[in-house]
Amino acid sequence: MFERKILIKQLKQHSNWDVIIIGGGASGLGIALDSATRGFKTLLLEQVDFAKGTSSRSTKLLHGGVRYLAQGNIDLVKEALYERGLLLKNAPHLASNQSFIIPNYGWFETIKYTIGLKIYDALAGKLSFGKSIRINKKETLSRLSTIKNGSLKGGVVYHDGQFDDARLAVNIAQTAIEHGATVLNHFKVNQLTKNNKGVVNGVVAEDTETKVSYTLKTKVVINATGVFTDEILKMDNAESKNIVRPSQGIHLVLDKSFLPGNDAIMIPKTNDGRVLFLVPWHNKVVVGTTDTLLDSHSLEPKALDTEVDFIINTANSYLTKTVSKADVLSIFAGLRPLAAPTDKSEKTKEISRSHKIIVSNSELITITGGKWTTYRRMAQDTINKAISIGKLESKPCKTKDVKIHGAIDSIDKTQHQYIYGSDKAAIQELIRETPELGDTLHPRLPYTKAEIIWAIRYEMARTVEDILARRVRTLFLDARATLEIIPMVAKILANELDKDTIWELQQINDCTKIANQYVL
Ligand SMILES: Cc1cc2nc3c(=O)[nH]c(=O)nc-3n(C[C@H](O)[C@H](O)[C@H](O)COP(=O)(O)OP(=O)(O)OC[C@H]3O[C@@H](n4cnc5c(N)ncnc54)[C@H](O)[C@@H]3O)c2cc1C
Repeated sequence: MFERKILIKQLKQHSNWDVIIIGGGASGLGIALDSATRGFKTLLLEQVDFAKGTSSRSTKLLHGGVRYLAQGNIDLVKEALYERGLLLKNAPHLASNQSFIIPNYGWFETIKYTIGLKIYDALAGKLSFGKSIRINKKETLSRLSTIKNGSLKGGVVYHDGQFDDARLAVNIAQTAIEHGATVLNHFKVNQLTKNNKGVVNGVVAEDTETKVSYTLKTKVVINATGVFTDEILKMDNAESKNIVRPSQGIHLVLDKSFLPGNDAIMIPKTNDGRVLFLVPWHNKVVVGTTDTLLDSHSLEPKALDTEVDFIINTANSYLTKTVSKADVLSIFAGLRPLAAPTDKSEKTKEISRSHKIIVSNSELITITGGKWTTYRRMAQDTINKAISIGKLESKPCKTKDVKIHGAIDSIDKTQHQYIYGSDKAAIQELIRETPELGDTLHPRLPYTKAEIIWAIRYEMARTVEDILARRVRTLFLDARATLEIIPMVAKILANELDKDTIWELQQINDCTKIANQYVL
């Protein structure tokens, strides 16, 4: 079902799709799932890999956004808190309830955050993750054993969601396929086609593995390409103005000893007025993020020295265990596809984070903005728009109740393979059949060879980087260890895909080049 050969065959079988989606990040994949579950003939094309763009580089939070609450954006917060609740219900293997502590240094802020977070709880309604409470200094110090004592007065505990972004993307792709969609990675859209009235009626896309080009016809084309939005809009109209401006956010990944407990830290106002999170993730700590407006975008954005210094300095002003550059296990940068500001002086924090759906004169539908947490709602709105633009049969959205591939009722999160949910048993079966597959990839990484095989056979991974960045996530957790295992993983991949040594060496080169960027 998830085999590339089969999916490409489907591409050749259908002469007219209902919906073609360009881009396999959170937005595009959510739309593919929504469209397929409403019964539309759906095709999604992703130029590299699912979540290769921003969608693998988030802070991994499912949140209403405490910051947006402070800005008075109640509707946005309420909508996101509802979606957060749905994700915990529909993807319990990937999403979890995470407690956050805001350390307080003055009585005024203690009262402010206590009241603010009570409102946050109330907005979640029935889907609340737990009540926020004020805790005293002693309890704050015992729960956050590495927080500086100094002038600490206490803390406010609140709850939000936490998840694995790239694995959710892969599991949504699988769910969409299970509901009848054709979803392909390593397929780049290079051109839009139009009918004689100038209405977009298809795409020309290239299989980047074989270089074979396909002309594909459809009733609706949806542009869900994040920071690449303007490139697609220019395929439609070379004169179109840029509507997206990238804003970079970076994260540093540290050893768990920097934040040993179960609680995350939320610093609501750093020296320059930003929010900083320190969040436990896969037995490490993710620290971020920044907000730096850029003039250009790329698939592998680079952290600026000033961003690294900002995160390290801020973390060090709160933690007793000093962070140095040598402690950084991985560094990754992502680009927010923000609406391009009209006034150059506009600060990124103030630009709208809610999603926007734009319909071009050619009837190309573009979705921009939003966040991972609200991907399902964004998809619902986009397909509703596609129904009216493409004159598709009006059918209601079903995704509120659609379980994501891998969803399972009881999960033991003590062992790392819980993330596979219902697939865990099949991975363990692989190890039972061939015990060597139970070998771990590296002394510092718990992942097994069986998970590599699984990613190739059942999760559509096509390159070493697909596997290490977005299936087992080692590149985001320990970039140096990842560099050491690249050749071994390339060998397994070449063997599974029946490729020669030249291909294998090219894979080693390509992945090494990318992985070096994750080392600070
Ligand atoms: C630093 C940072 C932290 C964040 N943290 C959070 C968080 O904690 N929680 C949260 O809810 N949200 C968070 N977000 C927001 C969230 O990550 C994004 O809103 C979301 O991932 C955007 O998804 P997307 O699908 O729109 O874009 P992308 O993920 O960038 O996907 C677009 C895709 O389109 C593909 N593409 C481009 N051109 C073509 C083409 N010609 N043919 C085929 N494919 C193409 C790209 O390869 C890419 O994969 C964060 C964002 C950033 C930057």
